[in-house]
Amino acid sequence: MYFIKSFRYLFVIASFYFLPTQVSLGKPLQVVASFSIISDLAKQVGKEHVEITTLVNREGDVHHYEPKPTDVIKLNKADLILMNGLQFEDFLPRLLAASETPAPVITLSDGIKTLSDSNQQVDPHAWHSVSNVLLYVENIVNAFCEVNPDNCPIYQANATSYHQQLIQLDKEIQQAVKAIPTHKRTVVIRHQAFQYFEDRYGLHFFALEGSAAQAETSARRLANAIKQLQQGSASAIFAESFHDSRLITQVSKESGVVVSGTLYSDTLSRESGEAQSYIALMKHNIRLLKQALAHP
Ligand code: ZN
Repeated sequence: MYFIKSFRYLFVIASFYFLPTQVSLGKPLQVVASFSIISDLAKQVGKEHVEITTLVNREGDVHHYEPKPTDVIKLNKADLILMNGLQFEDFLPRLLAASETPAPVITLSDGIKTLSDSNQQVDPHAWHSVSNVLLYVENIVNAFCEVNPDNCPIYQANATSYHQQLIQLDKEIQQAVKAIPTHKRTVVIRHQAFQYFEDRYGLHFFALEGSAAQAETSARRLANAIKQLQQGSASAIFAESFHDSRLITQVSKESGVVVSGTLYSDTLSRESGEAQSYIALMKHNIRLLKQALAHP
């Protein structure tokens, strides 16, 4: 009920602040990104030529995000809006409708090969495969060039240099996984956010719940996780940065396997933190996974 009411309120604000946007030369491109990982990718491509506003801030929970009236103002000032898609940003379609923003909305996951989770729903967490992120970056460049053709060569050059860093990262992850013995390649996590990682790099993640916002943990899944940890068919358990860690603590206690640290799945850390960029996030995760698993 509260949700419906707050949307009516958003709509009033939206009509009040509605102003068409124009991209003018010399002024940074105004980009709104739905969440922090996309903001970083956009920054790598746009550098000082873009000004990025993020809807769900660092360490926020995208799956359960409640839009604020100020989000409508952000959308109405945008030249361009970037989102992940695959129903990751459940809150966004209605927010966009409420804002009536004229800015183009770009779905960065367009063109990737999607995976389904254990509940037969499309898994939106495609950025955990670096090869998908190469496509995200390409989609960002195309969108920036479309809206702001004057700076297109700059965006392309930035993307080329970032592309090389991503290729390097992809290799590092493959190397790191290779160093983990095959019988230690299953870990327990909170929600199913790492299937694309699994698909590309070969570690198996047993999640207590599915990949969508409405996913719930079943007693059977909890018991299964505990059993796998006790029997050694799963070798480690990790908390996740934005998630309440109570369930993970419970599984850890009952299995007697200590939590090996906190992985970042859906959000960057604070600027001063260990996952302040997409590349830092992936490096942080792989460092923790290696620490916990890469010994006989
Ligand atoms: Zn998630």
